[in-house]
Amino acid sequence: MKKSIYGLTLDQLTEWLMDQGQKKFRAAQVWDWLYKKRVQSFADMSNINKECIQLLEENFTIQTLEQAVKQVSEDGTIKFLFKLMDGNLIETVLMKFPYGYSVCVTTQVGCNIGCSFCASGLLRKSRDLDAGEIVGQIMKVQQHLDEAGNGDRVSHIVVMGIGEPFDNYTNLMNFLRVVNDQKGLSIGARHITVSTSGLTPKIREFAEEDIQINLAVSLHAPNNELRTQIMKINKAYPIEKLMEAIDYYLESKNRRITFEYIMLQDVNDHVEEALQLAKLLQNKRHLSYVNLIPYNPVDEHDQYRRSKSEDIKVFYETLKKKGINCGMRLEHGTDIDAACGQLRSKQIKKEKAKA
Ligand code: SAH
Ligand code: SF4
Repeated sequence: MKKSIYGLTLDQLTEWLMDQGQKKFRAAQVWDWLYKKRVQSFADMSNINKECIQLLEENFTIQTLEQAVKQVSEDGTIKFLFKLMDGNLIETVLMKFPYGYSVCVTTQVGCNIGCSFCASGLLRKSRDLDAGEIVGQIMKVQQHLDEAGNGDRVSHIVVMGIGEPFDNYTNLMNFLRVVNDQKGLSIGARHITVSTSGLTPKIREFAEEDIQINLAVSLHAPNNELRTQIMKINKAYPIEKLMEAIDYYLESKNRRITFEYIMLQDVNDHVEEALQLAKLLQNKRHLSYVNLIPYNPVDEHDQYRRSKSEDIKVFYETLKKKGINCGMRLEHGTDIDAACGQLRSKQIKKEKAKA
């Protein structure tokens, strides 16, 4: 099966074309057709010679995603379900904010981390997405905006869809370099956030990359006992190791890091946990931001409920009093299964029921 050309960085495309005997400037021209003019067929690249077009057609396709479902929420959030060439389904969400359009992308088909509260973890990972399939999600959503005709562009990206991005590191980095490239989509690194469940060796590797992407870490609990209960990955990478890797990241990058904390009623939302969390982050509080996230109920995980809003408020105020920067995430598209993995797992259940 041919792969999407969206998976190549400009350097990789240049090298490939030159290896095929093409002139160096061809790559920039092809790149312009792909990301500025956004054509869907190599044959439309009118200033590219026939031989080069034939080469491209023989070796690549442009888009490998097909839209299967599109749900529009009352608040304007749009959830896309895309079908990959092998029939697998993935989901991508478009959110509108006062500061621009943000897209939440998927990096794997399913997720092996298996956090106890998450819909994505219900289905084991069947494979990684390649870089072209991750870029393809942004291109599909951009195409949707192009068709609306208002000149809008995707300005922000959050890598918070299905999958653990650091478990698909090389494809993730290629994706980030493609969308960030100034000659292409030019989405600012500071407008891109990657969220990880805390794979510490990869946090260290990420700290050494020459690109200023934001990092978010799904913490969800301030002590090992509770964190292991919620996220079994904590057994392999316990909080001390995680904090060491985060300190290394902060030293290398001197950039603020976000800690995500899902508020689960009577599980991790007591004042005691807020105090523990404040203590854990005390020495890095100038470079930390805690994002308190309302839990999006998942049918299969009915042991969890969303924290009461009074409890979230008390938790928030306890953190604030201790000097921790924090905020409460606003929700988007709860009426359309926008929690990560929900639409996909429902669609798969529906299809299984039909079969
Ligand atoms: N695997 C990565 C990124 C994808 S999940 C990670 O875990 O960080 C993105 C964020 O959504 C994570 O912080 C995750 O904990 C959160 N999340 C997962 N299921 C959720 C749910 N049902 N309600 C609210 N947030 C959820
Ligand atoms: Fe995977 Fe993230 Fe869901 Fe955990 S929260 S199962 S790491 S997608």
